[in-house]
Amino acid sequence: MPPGPTNPRTTAAAEDYLERISELIKTKGYARVVDVAAELKISQASVTTMVQRLDAEGLVNYEKYRGMVLTEAGEAVAARIAHRHELLTQFLRHLGLDEKVISRDVEGMEHHVSPETFEALERLNAHLEANPALRDSLNRSSTPD
Ligand code: ZN
Repeated sequence: MPPGPTNPRTTAAAEDYLERISELIKTKGYARVVDVAAELKISQASVTTMVQRLDAEGLVNYEKYRGMVLTEAGEAVAARIAHRHELLTQFLRHLGLDEKVISRDVEGMEHHVSPETFEALERLNAHLEANPALRDSLNRSSTPD
C-alpha cells in the first residue's frame, strides 16, 4: 500500500511526537513547543525543527506563537500508536512483567511491530483474557512478592 492518510509512512521519532502532542492536547488542552520539549526531554530547537517537518508533511498545524494541533492524518497516526501502546501494555502485563520494563519496552515496540504481528498479538491478548489459567501459568510474578 502506498503511504497515505490511512497508511502513513511515519518514522518512530515522528510517531513519538504525535503521541506526545496528542496526550498534551488531551490533558492540557494545548501543546506548545516548550511542553513537547519537556515531555520528550530534548531541546526546543529540535522540537521546532521536527514540528515544522510534521507540519510540512500535513500531520500537524503549527503556528509559531500559538503552538500546534494535529491534522486529521496526524490524529490517525496518534490514535494508531495509542491503540498499539494500550494493547502491548496489556499483553506484557499478562506476562507479569514489571511496570517499568513494560513502559520502556512498549515505547520501542509500538513503533516497530508490523501490522501482521500486531494482529496476532491482539488475538493472543483476547485468548489470554479469556483463559485466566493460561495467563497465570505465563505470569512470572505468580510467586509472592
Ligand atoms: Zn507509547
